[in-house]
Amino acid sequence: MTVFFATRGKPEFRANPNNGMIGLPDPFNTIIGFDGTDDVVNFLDGVERGEITKFAGHFTVETAFDPTLSQKEGEHVCFFQMPAPYDWPWEERRDEVIREVTALLDAHYEGFADSVLDCVLETPKSIEQRIPCMRRGSIKHGDYNPLQVGNNRPSVEMSSNRTGIRGLYLGGASVFPGGMVIGGSGYNAAYAICDDNDVKFPFERPDKVKKYLATYFPDGKD
Ligand SMILES: Cc1cc2nc3c(=O)[nH]c(=O)nc-3n(C[C@H](O)[C@H](O)[C@H](O)COP(=O)(O)OP(=O)(O)OC[C@H]3O[C@@H](n4cnc5c(N)ncnc54)[C@H](O)[C@@H]3O)c2cc1C
Repeated sequence: MTVFFATRGKPEFRANPNNGMIGLPDPFNTIIGFDGTDDVVNFLDGVERGEITKFAGHFTVETAFDPTLSQKEGEHVCFFQMPAPYDWPWEERRDEVIREVTALLDAHYEGFADSVLDCVLETPKSIEQRIPCMRRGSIKHGDYNPLQVGNNRPSVEMSSNRTGIRGLYLGGASVFPGGMVIGGSGYNAAYAICDDNDVKFPFERPDKVKKYLATYFPDGKD
């Protein structure tokens, strides 16, 4: 579940020395509302049961990193996101969700509630309506459980991006290494296509991948 906000002014942490964030550069992602590991586990257990036990999640001010996302001087866009159940009375409780999330952010960001110009709530149901392959609002195109990650994603036969159909390759979040905006599976798919067609892969490997291969495949096997 995501609440997107447009705000007047960039959200700034409340001047509370206890949060340890004063004077630091804008964080890309800030986790708000959890009191420790047990709290996170309880929260996720609640989501599995179809409940929202509290509002807690992560928050990003995108315009702190890409000012072109706002065409109005001094106005910003930001979003709060958290795991949430699909089967939940989203329509009836829409206003309450926005109110709770705004209050949570207001508790951490100076004058946040007063700065809100507009907001949009995207629920697991509306994500599925907008992007039908995100079934039940699964933004990573499929669950992250042991049966669906690593070489099981999407299946043992196809996690190397190749399919049973010659010339057809898979990319995207539903294939190893999974979702987020990392482009990993597309990179792997492009590599497999070049490999299968005796074409030199035209890109350098990222440094982290080079280090991984040197560590785990010192004999040069890839
Ligand atoms: C609201 C929301 C917030 C998110 N927030 C984050 C975040 O903060 N950080 C993060 O890392 N990840 C986030 N994600 C997840 C991330 O966006 C996805 O994991 C990622 O975009 C998946 O990439 P993909 O290439 O597999 O699929 P997509 O980005 O969904 O791309 C699939 C593309 O295929 C096209 N397509 C579909 N069918 C066809 C067809 N038949 N013919 C031609 N084209 C077709 C679609 O139009 C689309 O352009 C978020 C997702 C959502 C919905």
